[in-house]
Amino acid sequence: MWWEIASTRLGEPGYPLVENRVQSEIMKFACAEAGPISRSKLTGLIGVSRSKVSMEVQQLLEAGLLVEGGLAKSDGGRRSSLLGIPRSAGVIAAVDLGATSIEVALTTLGGEILVCRSEHADIKDGPKPILRRTKEILSEILGEQSVNPQEVLAIGMGVPGPVEQAAGILRSPPIMPGWDRFPIRSAFAGDYAAPVFIDNDVNLMALGEHWGGVGRGVDNMLFVKVGTGIGGGIIADGHLYRGTHGCAGDIGHISVDPEGPICTCGNPGCLEAMAAAPAIVIEAERRAREGLSPVLAEKLAERGELDAMAVGEAAAVGDYEALEIIRGSGRLIGHVIASLVSVLNPSLIVIGGGVAQIGHSFLAEIRSTVYQRSLPLATRNLPIVLSELEDTAGVMGASVMAAECVLTVAE
Ligand SMILES: [Zn+2]
Repeated sequence: MWWEIASTRLGEPGYPLVENRVQSEIMKFACAEAGPISRSKLTGLIGVSRSKVSMEVQQLLEAGLLVEGGLAKSDGGRRSSLLGIPRSAGVIAAVDLGATSIEVALTTLGGEILVCRSEHADIKDGPKPILRRTKEILSEILGEQSVNPQEVLAIGMGVPGPVEQAAGILRSPPIMPGWDRFPIRSAFAGDYAAPVFIDNDVNLMALGEHWGGVGRGVDNMLFVKVGTGIGGGIIADGHLYRGTHGCAGDIGHISVDPEGPICTCGNPGCLEAMAAAPAIVIEAERRAREGLSPVLAEKLAERGELDAMAVGEAAAVGDYEALEIIRGSGRLIGHVIASLVSVLNPSLIVIGGGVAQIGHSFLAEIRSTVYQRSLPLATRNLPIVLSELEDTAGVMGASVMAAECVLTVAE
């Protein structure tokens, strides 16, 4: 009976939410569609008979995971109604933990962001206070949206370190002291019956951008985040490519100078140690102190310290030293991306993270380096663009990943 199905799902969000592969594909295509979808389109996409699709759709309607609304275009026969994913199917809690921020969103199962809350935090404070605050924010926004915690179908979380995805734990994350092998999932277990899925933050940003941003419909793309750290996320053949242990795309620790400064990972001259926000700030403060840049010196005197955005502001008013620092960072990142282009042959490169907003010269330098250093065939149609979703790419990706997980049946 429908109420039994509904109460079972709401009482203890079962996982997976679907019963078989066809239901799984129906739900995933319904999620991926930017609006309502017709049965005939689903039939074409899944490649089973129309009657099979109709039968499984009926089950999903009864389970409350789909809802009918609007009429499909006529294909000669009787017009059937379109299918969508209702808000009442439940919500996904999407979390993006950055080096310096906590972002929590509620989305529909179909990936629409209902509410998103962000605040400053220091990941170095360790898992207990950070996860406590994350749960507080989640509880606040659930209350504001009048959503019962039992309606949370899944929790997706991005973290700024290497994640062993199957176990949902971080492995020796360089910038996250105290988080190594911390049981993140168990922190939610007492309050939420929903399963918790964890992945690297940049993987999820790539997924978010591929799903709902500038990478929509692009099957081979590379997402590069430049912020406190540098990371990459790879979409290959339409899927997130994680590699054997989940560390694919961890480009911040590619060596660009064997004689360079020691990185947080312990090795010298990693890209991250030489081109991410802290490196930009160190270089700017040095040039300010040495009297090379009056603009940077004035900002340093005013504020006591600089940040990457202050360097961007100085460049925007024509400060040569600030511009050189930004270009230097863009050039190093461009060199590494050019190597990746040779390996992956993507058709789109998306640059995100806080430093991406530092000014146009940063993106311009990345572009010119990549175009100079790569084979013409590889860059013939290779746009290099800024993230469209910006701050919400991470939570969007966390939502998509979590939805995919609860909609996948074991083979
Ligand atoms: Zn490193």
